[in-house]
Parts: sequence; structure tokens; C-alpha cells
Amino acid sequence: MGELKPVQPAAWREGRPILGRDQVYVMKYGREFHTQWCQAVADKWASAPRGLLVTLLADVGTRARCQQCSRAAPAARERPTRGRHSPEPAAAASVIPLRVVGIAHGILYLAARPEFRELLSETAVEPATPLLVGSKRDGMVVRVDVSRDEPLLVVQMDPRASFRDVPYQARLRAPLQRSATKPYAVESIEPAPREPDS
Ligand SMILES: [Zn+2]
Repeated sequence: MGELKPVQPAAWREGRPILGRDQVYVMKYGREFHTQWCQAVADKWASAPRGLLVTLLADVGTRARCQQCSRAAPAARERPTRGRHSPEPAAAASVIPLRVVGIAHGILYLAARPEFRELLSETAVEPATPLLVGSKRDGMVVRVDVSRDEPLLVVQMDPRASFRDVPYQARLRAPLQRSATKPYAVESIEPAPREPDS
């Protein structure tokens, strides 16, 4: 599996270790690593918290990413091949595709696929989170709703913005506030890059 090299987590929230950039969860005797607070991590934390460690993604050795974590972020965090200084392995990780499910009274509803529900339930919406078109703000993300199978991101459109019926995507980042209760926050929503077949 490779030698374990635990590091300090980026933060502690409600007593839980929170991952920073390039950090992952591993278990003392586990064969997997985890890129989020998945069920396996939660179970370990509940039963034997001292066996849950944080290490750098670059140091996971031959551990494989846990299936649940892989499903939640399919494009995410490929193991770096050029060492830990390779550029931003987390960048692709945190993009969630969204489709328009409705717009009414200036409120735009965007749905994510069910596999992102868990990730979005760990995601906060901080004040002034923008919907960006180009570099212009067309609206503000007001909340995430994970009560449905297809979780929703709810956007308040700016009065002067014109609505575009296109695929969107949400970018995630670490929360800005140290006191945040969730490990992720929405950075912005933007129209998705056009796919070749669309
Ligand atoms: Zn996991």
C-alpha cells in the first residue's frame, strides 16, 4: 500500500478533520483513499476516529480511490503523475454538470444528476455566489436543495440578465470561512463548455 504519511488536515470543523487542497482521507489499515466525507469515512469516524488519517494525494501509494468517492466526482483528482507540484489536480474535480429544469419569477432551477447528491449535501452556498456568463454576473446562487434525487441549485437571476437555456455547470471550492460547517462551497455557476455533439 505504501508507507503512510499523515499530515495535519487543512481545518477541523465540529471536531472533524477537513481536507485541504491535495489532501485525502486514508485509514490506517485501508486499501483505499477518500476524496470526500463519504459513507466509509463517516463510518470509520464513528467507530474508530483515530484510525482515520489525512494524507497528501501524492502519498496514497497503491491505494485506490474508494468507489463512492469516485462516483461522486468522476473527473476528479486523478492521481498526479508529476508529483505534488503538478498544476491543480483538484480543478476538474469540482465541476458539477447542471441542466435547466425551470425558470419562474426570475428564479432559475438547475438540476444535477443523482450521483452528485452526496457531494452537494456537503456543499454550502456562501453569500454573493455568482452565476457568471463570460465574466459578467447574471445572477446569484441562493441555495442548494438536496431533498430530491436530482439535487437542485437555485439561482436568483439579475433583473436585467437574459436567461439562456443551455447546460450549466457548478464549480466548487473550499469554503471561505473557517467556521464553515461543510467541506465545500459553490464558487460559481456558469454555462458549460459546449460539447462536440450538441
Ligand atoms: Zn470514500
